Amino acid sequence: MWRLRGRTRSKGESMTQITKNFTREELACGCHKCSSMMNIFFMTEKLQPLRDLVGFSLPISSGVRCGTHNAAVGGAPASRHLYGDAVDITWTQMSGAQKLQLLQAARSLGFSGFGLSPLFLHLDTREGPVVTWFYPA
Ligand SMILES: [Zn+2]
Ligand SMILES: [Zn+2]
Repeated sequence: MWRLRGRTRSKGESMTQITKNFTREELACGCHKCSSMMNIFFMTEKLQPLRDLVGFSLPISSGVRCGTHNAAVGGAPASRHLYGDAVDITWTQMSGAQKLQLLQAARSLGFSGFGLSPLFLHLDTREGPVVTWFYPA
C-alpha cells in the first residue's frame, strides 16, 4: 500500500512512478485523504499503452475516486472512477486531429466508455457494449 503525504504537494516532492508516464499522485483520489487506488491492470494494460500509441501527453484531471469524493464532484453513483478504471483526460490543449487520434487509439485498445466534454474526455473500460455520452458544456 501507499499513502499520500498530505493535502499539499510542494514542487520537487518525489512522485511515485507507476508506469513510464503516469504517477500514483496524478491518478490518486482528489480528496487527498483516502487510500483509494487506481486499478493497476488498467494503468499498465490500458492507460500506458494509450499514451504510447498517441505519443503525446495525456493530462489527467481525475483518476480514481472514493465514494465521498465522487459525490462531491457530482460523479454518477456507479461511476467507473469508483473502481479505478476510469480517467478524465484534459484535452483543451489538443488539436482537433489529436482529439480524433486519441478517440481512435482508445477504441482500438478496447476502451468502452467514452464521455465527451468540451474540457475533457472521460475514458473507462466498463463491461459490455461501447457507451458514449456528452457532458453539458
Ligand atoms: Zn478519496
Ligand atoms: Zn470521468
